Amino acid sequence: MHVYSIPMRVRFRGITRRTGLLFEGTAGWGEFCPFEEYDDDEAMAWLACALEAANEGWPAPVRDRIPVNCTVPVVSPERAHEIVARSGCSTAKVKVAESTLADDCARLEAVRDALGPKGFVRIDANMLWDVDTAVTAIKAMDKAAGGLQYVEQPCHTLDELASVRRRVAVPIAADESIRKADDPLKVAVSGAADIAVIKVAPLGGVRKALEVAEACGLPCVVSSALETSVGMAAGVALAAALPELDYACGLATLSLLDGDVTSDSLTPVDGYLPVLTTPPLPDRIAEFETGDLAWVERFQRVLSR
Ligand SMILES: [Mg+2]
Repeated sequence: MHVYSIPMRVRFRGITRRTGLLFEGTAGWGEFCPFEEYDDDEAMAWLACALEAANEGWPAPVRDRIPVNCTVPVVSPERAHEIVARSGCSTAKVKVAESTLADDCARLEAVRDALGPKGFVRIDANMLWDVDTAVTAIKAMDKAAGGLQYVEQPCHTLDELASVRRRVAVPIAADESIRKADDPLKVAVSGAADIAVIKVAPLGGVRKALEVAEACGLPCVVSSALETSVGMAAGVALAAALPELDYACGLATLSLLDGDVTSDSLTPVDGYLPVLTTPPLPDRIAEFETGDLAWVERFQRVLSR
């Protein structure tokens, strides 16, 4: 088992380093990397995903490349412009609701300018708004962005999402509502959302996530959980195995990490990721390896549940 700690290029999701654990099984490599604040219960799905990768492998792909979006954190409009222009992606996902409405709108204008009129702009509010704030903000941001593709998880509950959905023309995507549900297979998102965001680690692996996608009956966007290329390969395998894939996926997040453990990183070329799995290299692992036994203990605790 190898415990890694990789610095983030920019503070994202409140963290400045990404940490986790890599291990090899009979079918390949697994990555166990639930965020540090998650308890052992929540970490169980993450372990199931890592064990599937290491011991079983994944269902056969139905496509050989995955369209992806670039991600724009809370940065200046100039920096946002640069991130989008450099990415080669025609879809940008912009994190909003963490700064002022004016700041968010200025960033969205810069993103649209960088993408051009044919690009797609989506926003993610990570449950930070109440219904009225969401309605006001979404209308303003739709204008600033020259049209939004969708807004991800504007509010906390499914009822709130449904209320917002009735009051704005922008489609609503459910993210936390699905992966934080007691039973992601049974959560009734259809009246509350137009699109489902699915993440392979919090849902317990590629096969489980495919079941969730089928059960929710909505178009799906596959997103990462800030893994290295080892964990990211599971997200790519899910996106490759979905029967339909109408939207760019949120799997181009390796550029948020200042390093990786494989030879061929899963970084996009011209807005697409190849469907491939590359094993980690020993010297790459060594570069980021720490002797943090807490991760090994966490792995064993979750495994024994
Ligand atoms: Mg999200």
